[in-house]
Amino acid sequence: MVVVMAQEATESDIQAVVSLVETAGGEAFVSRGVERTIIGLVGDVQQFASLNLRGMGGVSDVIRISAPYKLVSRENHAERSVVRVGGVPIGPGTMTLIAGPCAVETPEQTLQAAQMARAAGATLLRGGAFKPRTSPYAFQGLGEAGLKILADVRAETGMPIVTEVVDAHDVELIAGYADMLQIGTRNAQNFALLQAAGESGMPVLLKRGMSGTIEEWLMAAEYIAQRGNLDIVLCERGIRTFEKATRNTLDISAVPVAQRLGHLPVIVDPSHSGGSRDLVLPLTRAAIAVGADGVIIDVHPHPETALCDGPQALVDGDLRELARVVRELPPLVGRRLTESADEPVPA
Ligand code: PEP
Ligand code: MN
Repeated sequence: MVVVMAQEATESDIQAVVSLVETAGGEAFVSRGVERTIIGLVGDVQQFASLNLRGMGGVSDVIRISAPYKLVSRENHAERSVVRVGGVPIGPGTMTLIAGPCAVETPEQTLQAAQMARAAGATLLRGGAFKPRTSPYAFQGLGEAGLKILADVRAETGMPIVTEVVDAHDVELIAGYADMLQIGTRNAQNFALLQAAGESGMPVLLKRGMSGTIEEWLMAAEYIAQRGNLDIVLCERGIRTFEKATRNTLDISAVPVAQRLGHLPVIVDPSHSGGSRDLVLPLTRAAIAVGADGVIIDVHPHPETALCDGPQALVDGDLRELARVVRELPPLVGRRLTESADEPVPA
């Protein structure tokens, strides 16, 4: 932490800051410049934060240098992490495709979507049984009946399941069926839910809040990590901007930034970013090129009758190109498509 003194600060203002920091058990290093003096603090940052240094005479600014998130930060964890979901790795060296329907609707629709996903190269199946809808009149998901369908489809296809949890009270129920809990953009700052997901010990897919900064996203991850769970994958799914031509604005630069600041894997959701089928492949290419650790994509056997997000779902005709993109592009950036559970992670 650095205390920047105002130009008009007096020697006694400087000494007052030094004494307060030393009384709190820290060390203060005074550096006198031509224009102004700055004081570098070494010690317990949390304790310094409680000293109200900003309110002291002659203090112009207090700047925090270390990240406010600790457990997910790369400061104390230089290596980037690999998170395994039912054995399937997500992390550096690999590019993992997660695909499936936006929502679980029927056993047939879910199985067909899973087969489409697998044909394209997906190793993990997505599908919401509990849907966080903006409108209370929209389809809210099948609930536990949907979880049972997902479990049946996993038994049939062998694909581990990623499914959303929208309420802390449902974590235990969903953890009984799922391989990874998804926390959506609308719940990115539902702290009770983040803590409950942390306590479940299950891998968590944490989407970025639609109006959340990268720091807020990492702080949300810290809530999960603080409960002893570091199996967290971050997902950039587009943010809200003035642009209306796309459903959300894919913040592609958030991927390398979040990877530099944190050690957690970062994936991209091109379906919920672009919001339309024709954008999914271009945004998938962008995600792979920028170094994403994976992508999560909506597919549906009959998008025209889908109960949720049909316009952005890929159909059979798109799968050949998706399969090509996820196999051919990753090697150009030093990665390869994850092919199966339990495969070793490249060094
Ligand atoms: C979803 O993936 O189904 C979803 C609801 O996404 P988001 O939270 O990003 O809107
Ligand atoms: Mn959706």
